[in-house]
Amino acid sequence: MSRILRLMFLPLMVILLMGTAVYGENPNITQKDIDEGIAICKEFPVVLKVDGKSVASDVSPVIIKERTLIPLRAVFESMGAQVTWNESDRIAEVAMGPSAVQLDIDGQAAFVNGNQAAMDVPALIINDRTMIPLRFVGESLNCGIGWDDLTRTVTIQSPVDKNVSTISSVEIQEKSDSYRVIIEADNSIEGHSTFAYDNPQRFCVDLKNTVLEDGDDQIRENGDLIKTVRYAQFAPDTVRIVVDLNEKVVGTVSYSSDRARVYIDFDKNQQQNHEDLGSVTVDGLNVVDWRASKKLVVIDPGHGGSDTGSQAKQDGVEILNEKDVNLDIALRLNRMLEAAGVSTYILRDSDKTITLYDRPAAANTANADLYVSVHNNSTDKSPAAKGTETYYYSKAGESEYNIYSKELAELVQKYMIESLGTVDRKVKSEPAYAVLNKTKMPAIIIEGAFLSNTEDLKLMMTDEFREKYALSAARAIIEILNKSVE
Ligand SMILES: [Zn+2]
Repeated sequence: MSRILRLMFLPLMVILLMGTAVYGENPNITQKDIDEGIAICKEFPVVLKVDGKSVASDVSPVIIKERTLIPLRAVFESMGAQVTWNESDRIAEVAMGPSAVQLDIDGQAAFVNGNQAAMDVPALIINDRTMIPLRFVGESLNCGIGWDDLTRTVTIQSPVDKNVSTISSVEIQEKSDSYRVIIEADNSIEGHSTFAYDNPQRFCVDLKNTVLEDGDDQIRENGDLIKTVRYAQFAPDTVRIVVDLNEKVVGTVSYSSDRARVYIDFDKNQQQNHEDLGSVTVDGLNVVDWRASKKLVVIDPGHGGSDTGSQAKQDGVEILNEKDVNLDIALRLNRMLEAAGVSTYILRDSDKTITLYDRPAAANTANADLYVSVHNNSTDKSPAAKGTETYYYSKAGESEYNIYSKELAELVQKYMIESLGTVDRKVKSEPAYAVLNKTKMPAIIIEGAFLSNTEDLKLMMTDEFREKYALSAARAIIEILNKSVE
């Protein structure tokens, strides 16, 4: 987004509304620039998204000399604003909630609630559509704006009421025993979250309710510890600081007393021994924060050996045993988690019998941090019963792990429903199940689908279902593990 946002900042100017020729008074932009801009955007169209949704307009955004102009009516109407056009004065009026905006189409003047605001380039009429500068929308109307170079997408987020702090500078300071990254804002910063990733080693801090004054940028340090500090508008209200490191060290985040400054300190003596986690990745999966990679996840493929679990029969003949489908899914889950850098312990990797009480006992002995039991469902009450449900039992000691079984169950359930399209039977608290109440650590049981239901059974026979089941669980587990070390 940097190219678009890093625009020249023009001081607020009082401009007379003279209704003069369109671009005569702006020496920076000529008719030739306009024609060129339109031609390039015809060849490489710019996509426009408002509040996450694509906006269809007969006139697309156009980039002219690094300034982006967007169709006024299409953008504001998709935010729920009313747009009216005063032909005689050639003024466009936008009524958006409590705000009123007036734009003089021929000049460079705009008024927001009666106060004059500057546009760095004037509005422009292309094919009878009023095009206004994106920067104006961002700065004067407090909308979040963004640009993705790869997909040539302009994003606009409706104005938020929250106070946003503007980050004016990012610096690195070397001290005798540490390096300090200093982030300075014009106002107090509400909070942050952190991530530490491998391949390449980096430490990231997301600063909440912040915007960058001058757009994305980076500092190349090439030091013994810090390689680069990159910063970018990750979301409309979140700035992400990424510190690329030569060593695997964790930054310590602290604030100045007024919270307008954030410090990230990297101790020079904090080098840690570790093996690289490998670089196999699975599509759609985040890698685990390496601070969480030492946490042990026990995977329990339900049933096994002489305990078949539920059975699906066709014309009196068994066609699927729950123990087999559970094992297949659990092995996939294990492989995905390992690829993402998670430490795992799978209770069985073949068709063998393990008693119900040996399962939690094994997890307790291994000092596991999380227990995930993979099952599928069945009932003889109704062949119509179908869908996905997840069981949890909230234990008093969960805060020690900073992992909450209810939160994990809800996330697993959400991803399962989204990706499998099965009926949502919700999460359920179940204190009576041995693997939930005999484990010391947070634990869940996933019941993917019903062997006793014809449609669910058909799904369960497919590779696609099993892969999506495993991927949904893996996504949720990694997200919860990463959150536990933020
Ligand atoms: Zn089962």
